[in-house]
Amino acid sequence: MTAATPPRLRFAPSPTGYLHVGGARTALFNWLWARKTGGKFLLRIEDTDKARSTDESTQAIFHGLEWLGLDWDEDVIFQGANVARHKADAERLVANGTAYLDFTTVAELERLRADADARKEPFRFDRRLATWTPDEISQKLAVGEPFTIRFRVPDGTTAWDDIVHGRIAFENKEIEDFIILRSDGTPIYNLAVVSDDIAMGITIVMRGDDHISNTPKQILLYQALGATLPQFAHVPMIHGTDGKKLSKRRDAAAVGDWEYKGILPTAMANFLALLGWSPGDDLEVMMPDELLAHFTLDRLHKKAAIFDTQKLEWMNGQHLSKRPLAEVLPRVTDALVRHGVATQAQLDADPSRTAHLVDQLRVRARTIEEVVKQARPYLIDDVEYDADAVSRSLLKDRIASADILSATRDALVNAPAWTAEALEPALRTLAESRGLAAGKIFTPLRVAVTGLSVSPGIFDVLTLIGRDRSLERLARTIDMLATTA
Ligand code: GLU
Repeated sequence: MTAATPPRLRFAPSPTGYLHVGGARTALFNWLWARKTGGKFLLRIEDTDKARSTDESTQAIFHGLEWLGLDWDEDVIFQGANVARHKADAERLVANGTAYLDFTTVAELERLRADADARKEPFRFDRRLATWTPDEISQKLAVGEPFTIRFRVPDGTTAWDDIVHGRIAFENKEIEDFIILRSDGTPIYNLAVVSDDIAMGITIVMRGDDHISNTPKQILLYQALGATLPQFAHVPMIHGTDGKKLSKRRDAAAVGDWEYKGILPTAMANFLALLGWSPGDDLEVMMPDELLAHFTLDRLHKKAAIFDTQKLEWMNGQHLSKRPLAEVLPRVTDALVRHGVATQAQLDADPSRTAHLVDQLRVRARTIEEVVKQARPYLIDDVEYDADAVSRSLLKDRIASADILSATRDALVNAPAWTAEALEPALRTLAESRGLAAGKIFTPLRVAVTGLSVSPGIFDVLTLIGRDRSLERLARTIDMLATTA
C-alpha cells in the first residue's frame, strides 16, 4: 500500500481589485488544508485580462495573504505567462477532434443571437454552422480569416462528487460548444484554469460555489486533454447581514480595510474561518494552531455565510485579550502614534508603563481604536469627558458628587504613598466611614480622572495616571461641579 500523496491546492485570484474577504476566506481554507495534510498551497495570479489586471492589486493580494499569515509554496504563477501553453492545449484538442475551428463572423453571431432573442430563446451556438471542409479551412487559414476554437461538447452527462455538495450532475445538452480560444489567440477562462491546474498538479480545486456552473466545462476539458481529474470543493458565498451579496461601499469587503481599522490578523483569520465552516461544539474563538487542529473538509457548509461585522469586532476583542502581549503591543503603539495620542519617544521613555497600560486596556476593548480611545487619559494632559459618563455618574446629584469627590481627594492626598497598596485602604476606610458601598466612591472617581466610565481597576488607573495628574483632575472636576449650575 502506498501512502496517499499529499494534496496540492491553490488560490487563484484575479488581480482586478483589492483582496476581497470572500477570496481571503477561500485562500484560508485552501491554506489550512494544505498545512494540515502536509500538502502544498500554491498561488496563481489570474492576470490574463490585461485591461483589468493591475500590479497594485497583485501587491494588495500578496500583502493581504501575508498579513493573514497565509504563506504559499513554490513560485507564484502568473497565468498571463502561460498563454502559449493555453494555445497549445487548444490546438491539441483540435488535433484530437474534441475541439474545432469556428470561422463564424462576429456579425453572423450577432444576427443569430438577435434571432434567438426575438424567439425568446436562449442563444446557443449550433455546431451545424461549422461545416467547413478541410480544404475550405486551409483556404481560410491561408488568407488569415479570423477564427475561434470551440470545444465540441459530447453527448451525455457530466458529474462529480463535490467535497461540499456531494454529487452534482449537468446534462451536456445544456452546455453549448463553448469557445476556448479567442480569435486573437488568447484563452477563455475555463481553458486557462484547467491548463494551469493540470500544469501545477493541483489535486483539490477549492473555490467559491459561484464556479459550480464552470465545473462541468472544466471537467470536459480535463477529459479531452487526457488529464486526471482533481477533486472539487465549492465553498459557500458570503453575504451581508441583510442576506445580500457583500457590497464594497456598504460593507468593508476588502481585507485591507480591516487591517486599517486595527483588527488583529489572527482574529480576522478566526472570523473568516467560520464563514462557511465550523468545528462543532459551539467552539468559536480559535488561535491559528487551533484552527489548524480543528479544520476538516467534512465540516464545510453548503449554505451562504453571513458577514457580521459586530461578530468580527467581538472576535477581535477575544484575540486582543488572548494573544501574547508582545504581538498586540506594537500594533497598539503604532495606532497611538498615528492617532496623535502619544509620540514614540514618550512611549519608549517608560516601556514597562506602556506595556502595563496596554495590557490593562486590551482586555476591555474590542478594537485597537477602542484601546486608543481608552488610552488618552493616561497619555494626554487634557481629558476628554464623555458626556454620558459625566451625566450619569456626576451630574445626577451635583452637590453629593462634589462632596464625595472632595472627601476622596483628601483621602488620596493623605495616603502615605501613591501605590495601589496604600491607596486602596485609604478609600475603603472612607467608604466605611460614610456607610457607602466602595463603588459609590470608585465610579465618580473613575469618571473624574479618566473622563470615561470604562477603565481598568481604579487603583491601576490612579497609579498609571500618577499623583499630580490625578489630584489635579479631581480638583478641576470638583470646581466644575461647584461652579456650573
Ligand atoms: N480567478 C477566479 C476568481 O477569481 C478563480 C478561479 C478558480 O478558482 O478556479 O474567481
